[in-house]
Amino acid sequence: MKLRVRRRIWGAGALAILVVAGFGALGVHPLLGARSDDERFRSSVAVLQDIAELRASLSALQVYVQPFFGAFSANAVKVRTTEVAQAALLAQTESTGAAAVARALRSEGLVANARELEVASASFTKAIAAFAPVIGGASSDVIAATVTVETASYSQMQVVTVRAATDLRAKSTRDLQTSIGRLDGGRRILLIAVSLVSFVIIIAVIVVGQHARRRERATRRAAERQAYETAFQDALDMAKTESDAYTLMTLAFEQTVAGLQVEMLVADSSRAHFHRTLSTAAPGEPLARSGCAVESPVDCPATRRGHTLAFPTSRAINACPYVKGRPSGELSAACVPTSLTGRTSGVVHATGPDGVAVTAIETQYLEITARLAAERIAILRAFEKSETQARTDPLTGLWNRRSLENRVRDLALEGRSYALAYGDLDHFKVLNDTHGHEAGDQALRLFARVLSESVRPGDVTARYGGEEFVMVLPDCGVETAAKILERLREQLAITLTTGRVPPFTVSFGLASSIDADTFDGVVSVADHALLTAKQSGRNRTVVASPAGTEIDARVS
Ligand code: GH3
Ligand code: MG
Ligand code: MG
Repeated sequence: MKLRVRRRIWGAGALAILVVAGFGALGVHPLLGARSDDERFRSSVAVLQDIAELRASLSALQVYVQPFFGAFSANAVKVRTTEVAQAALLAQTESTGAAAVARALRSEGLVANARELEVASASFTKAIAAFAPVIGGASSDVIAATVTVETASYSQMQVVTVRAATDLRAKSTRDLQTSIGRLDGGRRILLIAVSLVSFVIIIAVIVVGQHARRRERATRRAAERQAYETAFQDALDMAKTESDAYTLMTLAFEQTVAGLQVEMLVADSSRAHFHRTLSTAAPGEPLARSGCAVESPVDCPATRRGHTLAFPTSRAINACPYVKGRPSGELSAACVPTSLTGRTSGVVHATGPDGVAVTAIETQYLEITARLAAERIAILRAFEKSETQARTDPLTGLWNRRSLENRVRDLALEGRSYALAYGDLDHFKVLNDTHGHEAGDQALRLFARVLSESVRPGDVTARYGGEEFVMVLPDCGVETAAKILERLREQLAITLTTGRVPPFTVSFGLASSIDADTFDGVVSVADHALLTAKQSGRNRTVVASPAGTEIDARVS
């Protein structure tokens, strides 16, 4: 993966973590706040309980002092001092309880209620305490007034405590709602944070998974390519001829780039003309695309530039002129130049449907196949060249003496007879001296050409040395051979009339393989007949007869 892409992924990841952390903090904060709300709610409930207890014990006290009121009103002073003292003590306890509740109310923020309770509590305690002086026998008016004050202060306590409880309940309800609101908000934000985390994790898993899959696919493809390269190289090593190599290439293209139509154009020895060496298009195939019409390497943009060129569509303005306007219609193409002999001398041309570009993988297979095959073809050509050099005479291209002897040995092993003609150019020294050595070489080349054109494919024509030549005609009698030689001499005369080479003639001695036991023996017999031909005036063929006499075969 490219560094820039990696940096972007890391950057996006860091940003996502920051966002998620921010959301987390935003979510956790209200939840923590909600906990303190909860604590406040609990303390409010405790204070409400305190108020309820205070109210209950006030009521109990009131019930306790209630008989006093009856006693006072009946003016029957039956209330004992101890009972009044007990009531005063209880009232003191209520006062302490009320003070505690007032403190609790203050801590809950209900300052007004607290103050109100303190005032009411003080009045109530005082009203209870007021009973003591009247026990000893006060006037009924005073007693009535005392009872009224006590009843009023008790009612006041009831009112104040009820109000405090109501206010406290309202406040705790508000606190509760705030807490619920915060909880909801926090949960919502946390939900968003969790969703974001999940989203980031899913994206990360997808990205990492895709990256891993891509790497795995690339590794598998590289292994496949390597295996193909090894297999194709093995196959090429077994190819004996250039034609074998082209057959293997065709097979390889059909297997590796089946969706493409592939052909190969190779330059001839002059490097001026391309010829088609292979094509994967089946003859008569209806969907076949027409081949490339480029005629020479200098006209081909791919071979000129020396690297692969790809054309996703032949309609593009910068498409190769040779892919445009094909009779088979628009197409896509890839052209891979190949080097068979050190210089670019061929091109592998692949075509596909228009607009469907040849893929990078297909291009790799085209390049591997072209490279390996080109290397093998170069080796085969070099091998063939060295073999030809070892077998032939460099000046005339005819077989040399050694390869001639090998061929005759093969004929003997096969048990085949042959006619052998020993030819020697007449007065060649004079031609050389008169016209120069170069003219002599031209004469030798011209004679070699006439010689080759006069024989059948299975016959062997060799330069035996200097201006001497040997022809071996398998399965041919001397009579037939003599006729061939006579026609050859006629053809030589005709060819020389063009005047480009100084005129010359040739003398032949002709023998048969049955004239001697060995090749050297047959050559010797033919050489003897040749001597006779020279002595008889040259420019003729003399056939060695079995009896040792020679017959002039010259056509008069
Ligand atoms: P004859 O008719 O008796 O055969 O006479 P001749 O002159 O052909 O025979 P000779 O053996 O005297 O001379 C052969 C000449 O062939 C001598 C040599 O210069 C020439 N010769 C041999 N090999 C080559 C060659 O490769 N190139 C050229 N230009 N001349 C060659
Ligand atoms: Mg000679
Ligand atoms: Mg000669």
